[in-house]
Amino acid sequence: MPVQENSKRTISDVAYDENNIFAKILRKEAPCFAVYEDEMTLAFMDVMPQTQGHTLVIPKFPAENIFDLDPEYAAAMAKTVKKIAPAVKAAFDAPGILIAQLNGAAAGQTVFHIHTHIIPRSEGIDLKLHAREMADFDELKQHAERIKRALG
Ligand code: AMP
Repeated sequence: MPVQENSKRTISDVAYDENNIFAKILRKEAPCFAVYEDEMTLAFMDVMPQTQGHTLVIPKFPAENIFDLDPEYAAAMAKTVKKIAPAVKAAFDAPGILIAQLNGAAAGQTVFHIHTHIIPRSEGIDLKLHAREMADFDELKQHAERIKRALG
């Protein structure tokens, strides 16, 4: 179900806020540094990256968290993560990749449209604080290009 069409939404997702920033990105009302898009998902750079190359994958479905998410869109998100993670790894020459998905404020979630984080990790390079420091937009654009090239 596209994020714009929520007539079939159930009681479990009434709390979904149509004006959250990722819903706006999906409706193209807000910009993003996209790296990949298909019918069910979108991948783009995190604007407050915890390491260089920090990328997000979101489903085109109006769900706050894993509990509200249609299973087909959960599968589509996983499939896109599986496609993007190797490209991020190659683009940033990262020996490790952290994949995380937070559900609820108590788990640290700050944007209430479900998303998966893909974060390059290297020994000796600490994670920056979560959702704290805005990156340089020219740099983010270059990083998105690097990932797109790695995707081929
Ligand atoms: P979470 O805390 O798991 O909900 O993560 C939300 C993530 O979205 C954080 O890592 C933020 O840095 C990131 N973020 C917030 N606003 C934007 C935006 N407009 N574009 C890209 N990433 C964003």
